[in-house]
Amino acid sequence: MDTEKQEYFRGVLQEEMRALLEEAGKTVTEMTADNTNFPDPNDRATQESDRSFELRIRDRERRLISKIREALERIEAGTFGICEMCDEEISEARLKARPVTTLCIDCKIEQEKREKLR
Ligand SMILES: [Zn+2]
Repeated sequence: MDTEKQEYFRGVLQEEMRALLEEAGKTVTEMTADNTNFPDPNDRATQESDRSFELRIRDRERRLISKIREALERIEAGTFGICEMCDEEISEARLKARPVTTLCIDCKIEQEKREKLR
């Protein structure tokens, strides 16, 4: 992959990271702001389930953030866009749709087939 394309994907990944961190920051603020008194126990139950929902979202965000971080490291290392399994280049269309991917479409399909068999 040439430098220009690498820079393009670096930009995309950094922007996605920034958006995620901003969203995560907002979640934390909202959760802290929720720490008021609940006179009604039903309200409290709703608040609790909202919170576990928030935490699940944050868990997904965290995983995505670490994937983005790994993708940025691969750009630094010059291995970005190369399939982990077969060492072939991953198509640009696929990278554009999913820049954090580490598998080409063939290997991805192969992996999903195997996961279904399990
Ligand atoms: Zn592959």
